Order: sequence, then structure tokens, then C-alpha cells
Amino acid sequence: MAKLLEGKFLAEKIKEELKSQVSSLGRRPVLASIIAGDNAGAESYAKSQKKTAESLGIEYQFHKLDSSISEPALVEFIHKLNDEKTVNGVIIQMPLPPQIDYKKISGCIAPDKDVEGMHPANIGKIVFGKARILPCTAAAVMELLNSSGIGLRGKEAVIVGHSEIVGKPLALLLLDKFATTTVCHIGTSEAGKLEEHVKKAEVLIVAVGRAGLIKGEWIKEGAVVIDVGINRVADKIVGDVGFEEAEKRASYITPVPGGVGPLTVTMLMRNVVEAAKLQ
Ligand code: NDP
Repeated sequence: MAKLLEGKFLAEKIKEELKSQVSSLGRRPVLASIIAGDNAGAESYAKSQKKTAESLGIEYQFHKLDSSISEPALVEFIHKLNDEKTVNGVIIQMPLPPQIDYKKISGCIAPDKDVEGMHPANIGKIVFGKARILPCTAAAVMELLNSSGIGLRGKEAVIVGHSEIVGKPLALLLLDKFATTTVCHIGTSEAGKLEEHVKKAEVLIVAVGRAGLIKGEWIKEGAVVIDVGINRVADKIVGDVGFEEAEKRASYITPVPGGVGPLTVTMLMRNVVEAAKLQ
């Protein structure tokens, strides 16, 4: 039976380290959070970020903008935050109103304040193994793998899902650790080859958002399984991997909920502290 890789314990440990880093900075790092329009989900997510930030000594500034804001006006607002010396990090909450292009807007955040790690300059640094600010979910996955104590060098690592926030940066991070890395996506499924790749995985990371996509029976004996997926099925939250069967075969597995999720916001805070140190 697999050991559970629970993000909340690791998150507590990392938060203790962050608290002491914040106190040795000698000033409170500031995270500016932008919400455009009314969205209960985004507001509740921002509130939970605020709670975590404040527990670490980070000031959380909430900027609520009108849903009718134009793209140029939002760009101007972001530029002001970029120029504001007291602000260390900027985050834009999703979803944005339809007139706003997220990619364009997120690219306007100064790279050294881009605490989501999604600015092209920060993604580029991952390619060169020089990144200090990493995309939060990918960083959370790497922390969980590290905590399992398994060495990644030479391991068959398979990622399912090639999104810009999870799969693609993770592929680069795993390559940097010398894992033999395969990235599967919709094309792999269409070609009927997903099962074949998953069955080879010694380290499997799934980030798709489709419950039951990965059958528990496909998991290699002793594999480490990180399930990033979040799906609501009949009032329950489940991942993308058939947990019950996978748990019998894997050596380590993340529960959903309680695996990657609790670490993601901690990685955001780590990026804020890192940004404050870099500035
Ligand atoms: P996206 O929708 O951006 O990406 C999903 C990826 O899965 C795409 O690369 C897509 O390929 C691929 N895909 C879709 N269908 C299949 C299929 N049948 N077989 C193989 N690959 C497929 O999602 P995100 O990366 O943003 O998120 C993925 C999941 O992780 C979601 O459930 C999300 O809620 C969760 N999540 C969890 C977080 C956490 O903190 N725990 C944080 C972020 C996300 P293509 O684009 O080519 O169609």
C-alpha cells in the first residue's frame, strides 16, 4: 500500500522556514492582488491567500477593479504597481472579464514581481536552470517529489498534460534533475498511446482535469504518483487517477484533495519572499 504524500505537512514545514526568512528581511514583503469584476470563487481564493500571507508576516494588498475596466487601463494599473517600490509581488486573480487577454496582461508584470512565475523571462530562466521564481503548481510537485526522497536521476518520468502552468514547466524541471521525461497530451490519447506510456512511468504526474482518465491498473508497481487534477464528481473532489487501485500499486501517492493543492499557495508565498530578496 502506497504512502500518502500529503501537501499540508510539507506546507507547514516550508511556512516555518518562510516566517524566519521574512523576519530576517527586516521589512514586511508586500503582495498586491488584483481582481477585476465580481467573482465569488476568485474572492474566496484571494481571502485564503491573504490569510496565509498574513500568517507569514507578508502584507496582502487587495485591489478590486471594475469589471468594465479596459485592457489599457489595467495595463496602466499594473505598471503603477511595477513602479511602486514597496510592492514586491503582483498576482492577477482569474477569471478576468472577457475584454481582457490574460496572456497579454500577465506579461506586463515586471519579471522580478511575477510571483506566479509565468512571465516569459521567468519561464526562460527554467530552460537555463537559473530560475529562482517558479510557477507555483510545478514548484509544489517538485517539493512533493523531493519530500518522498526518491532520486529522479535516470528515472522514467511521465507527465500527462502539457499546460503552460503545470506540464510544460514541470518537464523542464524534471529534465534539470536528469529524469528521462515523457510528456503526454491530447495527441497521445488520440493516438491510443496513453496507457502504454503511463505503464512505463516510475514517476507519474497527471495534470489534466478529467476524473478517471488514468486507470489505477495502469500504475507500475512501486511508482510515485502525483495527481494534480481537481474534479468535482457527485459532490466529491477527486483527481485524474483511479485512486483505490493506484494506491495498491504505487510506493507514494498524493491524495486529492490534500496533496498538491495545500502546497500551491505556500509556493506563491515562497515566490513573494524570493522576489523581496531579489529586489
Ligand atoms: P489545462 O486545461 O490548461 O490543461 C490540461 C492539459 O491536459 C492540456 O495539456 C490538455 O491537452 C491535456 N489533456 C486534455 N485531455 C486530455 C486527454 N484525454 N489525455 C491527455 N491529455 C489531455 O489545465 P491545467 O493544467 O490548468 O490544470 C490541470 C488540472 O490540474 C485541473 O484539474 C486543475 O483544476 C488542476 N490544478 C490543480 C492545482 C492545484 O493546486 N492542485 C493548480 C492548477 C491546476 P490539450 O491542451 O492539447 O488539449
